[in-house]
Amino acid sequence: MTEIRVRFAPSPTGALHLGGARTAIYNWLFARSTGGKFLLRIEDTDARRSRVEYVEQIYNSLKWLGLNWDEEPVFQSQRLKAYQQAVQKLLDKGSAYYCFCTPQELEERRSRSGEYKYDGKCRLLGMEQINANFDAGKPAAVRFKIESGITEWNDLVYSNIRVNHNEIDDFVIQRSNGIPTYQLAVVVDDIYMKISHVIRGEDHISNTPKQILLYQALDEKVPEFAHLPLLMGTDGKRLSKRHGATGVNEYKALGYPSFAVFNYLALLGWVPKDGNEILSPPELVRRFHLTEIARKSAIFDMKKFDWVSNEHIKRFNNDEIYTNILPILIEKNLIDNEPDPQLKAYIFTFIDLMKSRLRTFQQFADRGNYFFKDPTVYDEKAVRKNWKSTEVNERLSILLERLKTLDTFSAESTEDLIRNVAEELDVSASKLIHPLRLTVSGYGVGPGIFELLAVLGKERVIRRIERGLQILPL
Ligand code: GLU
Repeated sequence: MTEIRVRFAPSPTGALHLGGARTAIYNWLFARSTGGKFLLRIEDTDARRSRVEYVEQIYNSLKWLGLNWDEEPVFQSQRLKAYQQAVQKLLDKGSAYYCFCTPQELEERRSRSGEYKYDGKCRLLGMEQINANFDAGKPAAVRFKIESGITEWNDLVYSNIRVNHNEIDDFVIQRSNGIPTYQLAVVVDDIYMKISHVIRGEDHISNTPKQILLYQALDEKVPEFAHLPLLMGTDGKRLSKRHGATGVNEYKALGYPSFAVFNYLALLGWVPKDGNEILSPPELVRRFHLTEIARKSAIFDMKKFDWVSNEHIKRFNNDEIYTNILPILIEKNLIDNEPDPQLKAYIFTFIDLMKSRLRTFQQFADRGNYFFKDPTVYDEKAVRKNWKSTEVNERLSILLERLKTLDTFSAESTEDLIRNVAEELDVSASKLIHPLRLTVSGYGVGPGIFELLAVLGKERVIRRIERGLQILPL
């Protein structure tokens, strides 16, 4: 059995986007589930668009997702010699030929014939003509010769794919400036890196027959191919900026846990046979089978993503959440640097109360700000709904006086008291609870009110009700 070796081959022309990350994840899962190797290749032959910053960004996003690679990354920009040698081999064998047609000539002939494919003009050039062209200083590209026939492969996702060679023209493998084209570089590198399985986006399906022919012409073993259906938005269109954030780094900045991003992307096109959907990377590795990837297009649905993320937050233990949210709480000035043990214990209780409701680490600071700072603004919609008249102020003032008398300020004692006051005032408890929640948190919704009161403590609660009574209704 040949060793399983796969690669992720991004072009560093932008940050790592969700589609690329999913391709990387499937490659990584396949390698880790088969004891194979996961490698990285930076496809930076396009010097104009490639940037070192993007290489760094891609590394960082991969590391953040936990997609560790097994060997030093290969950079295409450093492998020009190898490409030129391969081109020479193909020329020597007669599988490739020099083409002196200029872009203008090609364009002219194309518009005259209406045929986009290369017409094979330079295929017929004899040695003498070729030498004369070189002597005259004419630049030459190199084209790969396509003979008639059929190429087929058994795609691990798309099953059998057959392509008639009359659909392929003599494509360029080396430009007149000596730079190889994508088709050639990919094949030469996949051979060099001993890649056994090429797992990549479906947009590369049309490249695969060309690449198979190159392997054959270079007398090399053709790897297995698995093409991944593209990611779509819920509107059925290819996923793009229009659908929202598309960069992995953006989701990191939004505070999504990396496990959630990893998990959700892994589910876009594949669901474990046992039906479990909420899984950590090691749990995914144990279940992953490349051939189970579905052929249908994968829909990126933000609602489902948020659900997955919330499930992961619920699964984290409080220590893990604490480590992740501490820098955010500090950055947002909700707490000063290192908390003392008392504040740390308070943060743990806060995590307990909030974690079932949130989907990002960032939300602990945004939606949970009132655990640390008295509210200064109140949700207007909730005020309009629950604080229609100053009658509310009267009721809440009565409740306030009674709360002040409580010696133990627990979930049980506050609940008893609130229910008693409601009965005495002959209103439902919710008539007290909603306005109370607004004054203590600024929000219309949140965790269970009695637990919340107990966690916030008597002093904060009293102070906040007093302030709310002065300001509300808005
Ligand atoms: N660099 C190519 C891309 O970003 C990948 C090529 C390949 O996987 O063969 O789409």
